[in-house]
Amino acid sequence: MKCPKCQTENQADSKFCVSCGAALNVAPPPPPPDEGIRGRPPSAGKKYAHGKDPTLALILSLILPGLAIGQFYNGDVMKGIVMLVGALILSFTILGSAAIWIWSVIDAYQVAKGNQSLWN
Ligand SMILES: [Zn+2]
Repeated sequence: MKCPKCQTENQADSKFCVSCGAALNVAPPPPPPDEGIRGRPPSAGKKYAHGKDPTLALILSLILPGLAIGQFYNGDVMKGIVMLVGALILSFTILGSAAIWIWSVIDAYQVAKGNQSLWN
């Protein structure tokens, strides 16, 4: 991650530039209290859905477009809320609504299968 001010290369999860102290434009999920903020690999701390049925998650997302039911089923609450808000904002555009819908269907399936991590 490059500093927008001084172009110094910083760690990907850094919040501030090591050189000039400028805030870096990242929005990482808040780390759990038992984990160090620095020095952990980017894949650490990711949570995955367990015991979820990918087919059910897919169907739930398919039949209720824009409601992110598949995400809530997976326990992916943060992503579900983002999709809900996104669907609301984009509800006046067919393309936007369709994009959120397709995203939620594919994501619900992949997360339930364990191919993708949860956001929260
Ligand atoms: Zn800098």
